[in-house]
This record gives sequence, structure tokens and C-alpha cells, in this order.
Amino acid sequence: MNDRGEATKPRVGSSSCLLGNEVRYDGGHCREEVVADVLSGWLTIIPVCPEMEIGLGAPREPIDIHVGEGGRIALLSKETNRDFAVVMAEYARLRVSELEGERLGGFIFRSDSPSCGVKGVPRYRDGASPEEGSGLFAAELLSRMPTLPVVEEGDLRRSDDLYQFLVRVYTYDRWKMLTYTGLTGASLKRFHLSIRDLVEAGKTGSWVELGSLPEPGDLPDAAVKEYERRLMILLEKPPGREGNAETLCRIAFSLEKKGGAPFMAEAVTAVEAYRSAGTSLVRAKEAVRRMRSAVPDDLPAVDTFLTPFPADLAEAIDRPASYESR
Ligand code: SF4
Repeated sequence: MNDRGEATKPRVGSSSCLLGNEVRYDGGHCREEVVADVLSGWLTIIPVCPEMEIGLGAPREPIDIHVGEGGRIALLSKETNRDFAVVMAEYARLRVSELEGERLGGFIFRSDSPSCGVKGVPRYRDGASPEEGSGLFAAELLSRMPTLPVVEEGDLRRSDDLYQFLVRVYTYDRWKMLTYTGLTGASLKRFHLSIRDLVEAGKTGSWVELGSLPEPGDLPDAAVKEYERRLMILLEKPPGREGNAETLCRIAFSLEKKGGAPFMAEAVTAVEAYRSAGTSLVRAKEAVRRMRSAVPDDLPAVDTFLTPFPADLAEAIDRPASYESR
């Protein structure tokens, strides 16, 4: 656990069943350890169970999405054939408005659910194979907050996707705080400089392209929204082992010249071990951070890349068994 105050932690929604709450149709839960035991120490987790919140109770009949005449969506209970689509749509509209007003910084969804699944949820149609889409609550959230970092619980079991989800959540939270407190040309410039290495790792040229969007000193809403949209797309996929290793090497060589030389050999060894899947990204960044600690200069892009979220959270999610996937 960490000791950050609640007010400063990013606020992330989660399907309630992932936290171990017994809200599933069968009266059970599908507790996900990393959400319930790890992330909850650093993030303010907001539990949401759309099916309980529309009053279905647990246990309850399972429900499915059906597509009828003219594309009309129905959310039908399997045994009694009751349709909850209208009540779910109204609930989702109001609940998403509430969440928008609560500085929501991300959402962790339970996969395969007709309410919470993000992708691959079957939508049945008479006489045809099912289409695939999102659950109805997830669909409303995704359409109203298209730049919000979202993930399904299964993705969090892959170390690189978990790491990148946290990069997205903390970057989004920092960006939103900036926009809430009044974005200026100067504060946008500072933010933009700070995310250079994070955005550029594995995607050369993307940072320069991103920065060409808003006009300096003139920040029309549309340009700010477009900046946010492109930023979050660029951060969606993890940079990959080569992209991270190259960026770490470049940073290590620049720090060597500024006073970090005593720690250079150790850093290069760690980065090369990471490149060949012999250690984790967290360990490689930690070694380069030791060089950084010997350099007094203000280096916002380097600091954001090396520590995109709290170092103790990085430590908590570091899992040696999964180095292969990093
Ligand atoms: S998947 Fe969503 S609707 Fe289903 S039990 Fe979990 S939180 Fe509730």
C-alpha cells in the first residue's frame, strides 16, 4: 500500500465483481487479484455493477443482447424473456454522467459480459450468426469518453499491457488535471515536453507530429480535444521491448555525459538484460534511474519516461515470471 492521499490518486472504475463482490448472476464473483489487492493501493477504485444498479439483484437470471427488427437492441433474460434494454440505457446514461463528473481516469471491465464486456460480446439475431460488440454499459462509457483508458481484466495478466494501462491512466490523469485547472500555451508546452520519450519510444516522429496540433498561445477547444485524442491513441499500445531498450540506451548515454557515468555499466547491463528478456522493464528503468539521481539537471521527458507512475507501484506489479512477455 502507499500513503498518497485519496484526493491525489487517479480515480478508476472497475466492474464490481472483479473486486470480489458477490454481484454476478450466479451470486458469485470473479475477483482479479491485481485489481483487488494491488491497484487498489494506488488508485481510488470506484466499483460499478450495472446489473445490480438497475435492481436485478444476485443471484438473478442471466441476460443476453439481442438485435431485432431495424437494429433494435434488446437485453433479454434467458428464462422469462424480460427486456431490460431501456432501463439499462437510461441507467448507463445517468451513471456515465456521474462518473464524468467524478474525474474518472480509467475503467477496468469484466470481459464477456452483456453489460461490461468491451469487445467480443455476442449480440444474437434471429436466423443469423451472432455479431460481436460491447456490453451495453461499456458501450455507453466508450462512446461518451472515447479517450478514457479502458482495459479488460484479462489484459492485466500480461505484464506489458498492465504497465501500459498504468502509463495511460497516470498520463491521462495528469493531462485532465491540467485541463481542469486551466490549460495555457505555457502549461501545454511543459506537458508536451514531458511526454516526449514516453510517446516516442518505438514510434519515432510521433511526438513532433502530436505537437503540431494546437496553435501556440491559442487553444481552441477542438484543438485541445484533438491533442488528447491523438495522445491517447499513441499511448494505447505498449512500445515493445526494442522501443523501450533503445529509449533507455539513448537516455543512459545522455546521462553519462551529465554526471551519471559511475552508474553507466550497471545501467547498460540491465538494459541489455531487458532487451534479451532476462529482466523486466521495471528493473531496467530502475538501473537507469540510478544514473538519473546523479544528474542535477531538469529533465522532464527523462523523468516521465523512467517514472511514468509511482516507483513503488512499478515495484508492486513487477513479476519475474512474466519477463518473457515484456
Ligand atoms: S460483469 Fe458487470 S454486470 Fe456482470 S457482475 Fe460483473 S460488474 Fe456486474
